[in-house]
Amino acid sequence: MTAPHPEWIRNYVDGAFLDPDPASAFDAVDPATGTAYARVHEAGAEIVDRAVGSARRALAAGWADRPVADRARILRRAADLIEQRFDDFVAAELADTGKPVTQARALDVARAPMNFRAYADLVSSAGEQSYLTDTADGRRALNYTVRKPLGVIAIIVPWNLPLLLLTWKVAPALACGNAVVVKPSEDTPATASLLAEVLAEAGLPRGVYNVVHGFGADSAGAFLTEHPGIDGVTFTGSSATGSHVMRTVAPRVRPVSLELGGKNAAIVFDDADVDEAVKGLSRSIFTNTGQVCLCTERVYVQRRIFDEVVAGLATEAASLRLGDPFDEATTTGPLISEKHRRKVLSYFDLARAEGADVVCGGRVPDVGEHLDGGSWIAPTLWTGVDNSSRVMREEIFGPVAGLVPFDTEEEAIALANDTEYGLASVVWTDDLRRGHRVAARMNVGLSWVNTWYLRDLRAPFGGVGLSGIGREGGESSLHFYTEPTNVCLQL
Ligand code: NDP
Repeated sequence: MTAPHPEWIRNYVDGAFLDPDPASAFDAVDPATGTAYARVHEAGAEIVDRAVGSARRALAAGWADRPVADRARILRRAADLIEQRFDDFVAAELADTGKPVTQARALDVARAPMNFRAYADLVSSAGEQSYLTDTADGRRALNYTVRKPLGVIAIIVPWNLPLLLLTWKVAPALACGNAVVVKPSEDTPATASLLAEVLAEAGLPRGVYNVVHGFGADSAGAFLTEHPGIDGVTFTGSSATGSHVMRTVAPRVRPVSLELGGKNAAIVFDDADVDEAVKGLSRSIFTNTGQVCLCTERVYVQRRIFDEVVAGLATEAASLRLGDPFDEATTTGPLISEKHRRKVLSYFDLARAEGADVVCGGRVPDVGEHLDGGSWIAPTLWTGVDNSSRVMREEIFGPVAGLVPFDTEEEAIALANDTEYGLASVVWTDDLRRGHRVAARMNVGLSWVNTWYLRDLRAPFGGVGLSGIGREGGESSLHFYTEPTNVCLQL
């Protein structure tokens, strides 16, 4: 398989790809090599306006009122078509991200059809609340809820799991009868445009799915969130941008769903199966080169097994294979961009300045001449840090973690919860009671015991504090993407 090199990645508005404008374009860069592989047409305010207008017209033309069974059929067909074009999606994702082909197949692209099928099922079986109400004068009323689509939804997604996170929002939005305008990250534009082809072939009416490419500030992202024609925004990205998006829509009081950053903790008790914990930690720290919002960046280890866990993790880090994304043996890709690598490297400097001991990594690795231009980074572990260190407080979003010893359960809980973020945590223990007890006390939206990133798409997903507002997943998504009207009928 080789990466596709389409000359242009284009905006998709009202059921058609727009002719690109060379005067308004930027490069799509493969971060494994640092070379441009396509040009992307940047959407200005006028294109964003046309996209929002076409979404509104699609709603008025009947998409919002289509029977649920019709919408579910289109979603299922989209899932089938993604599977038929699986290799195209994998190649597009690799060109944008440089991630290993094995991961793109097993995680990124595999989850896209699952997202469409999950919401086709959910919307098909969704019920609503109803109450028989006794009134003071001895009569009765029937209260029930009708759920209507929110309308035109702005979907803004980041670069780390581009197709997975995009379809995680597009599927429920469409299932509920909304029309969408999506803005992928400028670093990962390819799969959003590819999805347009699939959705059109699946029978989605024109204008229901639109794609605008570009940047955030003074570009497509800002034009979209500032547009008076949108009825809600669902955003996944950094806490700073999420907060900005919230302020942008505040004057028009639009609903927002914010899935933001994390500074996630893992706690390893000395009753845990150490080998299993080390393997699990290696996954939670290094998957996707640490660029998953759920990744662990803080590890608290009970003192008796601290040295053993540090040594085990260092061995795991050394066994990772950085290299050609298309090589089946590669486990670890580059960071998404040179800009992001500069940020991660600045934390390497900071860790040293803060007195951290570098257990492994802390540098730019040698991955061979042909990949020299890529944004490669060595998996990195620190000891000698504590919760006052900035590297233990700020989200780095790379393959890094600081390890800190603790003595008691209370101390571990306090250390893990000592953060402004609240997305995910992991507790490693073989004590069943302790697992339940500690997991419930984590101030996070997702609390795992003896595993990581094991997801049921029906379960709520999201975070607290700087990690976001609201939940998506399962019923939570059906609620975000609809507005309830309560009907009260005097019987
Ligand atoms: P950013 O916040 O930088 O960007 C996210 C998206 O918002 C991009 O499409 C970006 O466009 C766009 N954007 C930027 N500025 C604006 C603006 N002013 N108005 C509207 N849109 C804007 O995040 P990253 O792309 O760097 O993604 C990494 C972050 O995402 C991490 O913090 C990570 O934790 C978080 N994340 C959270 C997840 C969760 O579910 N909680 C899951 C995955 C990631 P552009 O890129 O073109 O500038």
